[in-house]
Amino acid sequence: MIIRPMCIFCKCYKDVEVTEEQADLLLLPRPLRPPVQDILPDHDAGIRELFISQMCPDCWNDTFGDE
Ligand SMILES: [Zn+2]
Repeated sequence: MIIRPMCIFCKCYKDVEVTEEQADLLLLPRPLRPPVQDILPDHDAGIRELFISQMCPDCWNDTFGDE
């Protein structure tokens, strides 16, 4: 299934393909949620960051990337 987390920096939505089980875990309140790297071990670090810091890969590059 596809879930669409929003980047709080550029307000864009990113489509992320996950299993139903992964989606259930990702939608848990933060204190109850397992570490994102445990839920999505096979996704890009940039995608995981979208769930951790709510920053999309584009904004991540703009902020932290080399030119
Ligand atoms: Zn963004």
